[in-house]
Amino acid sequence: MQCPVCTTQALVMSERQGIEIDYCPQCRGVWLDRGELDKIIERSAGAAAPAPVQAAA
Ligand SMILES: [Zn+2]
Repeated sequence: MQCPVCTTQALVMSERQGIEIDYCPQCRGVWLDRGELDKIIERSAGAAAPAPVQAAA
């Protein structure tokens, strides 16, 4: 797939933890499928959840 911005640059496919990412090395644009974006949001929401803090005795 060609970069929609550069039009001449082919996107590079990369996979991170089961999520497929297409990025353009020229303009550094990143493209995701809709399902991939949802996966990233789910995972980042889980990772950003505050961990229970235990008060020191
Ligand atoms: Zn580009």
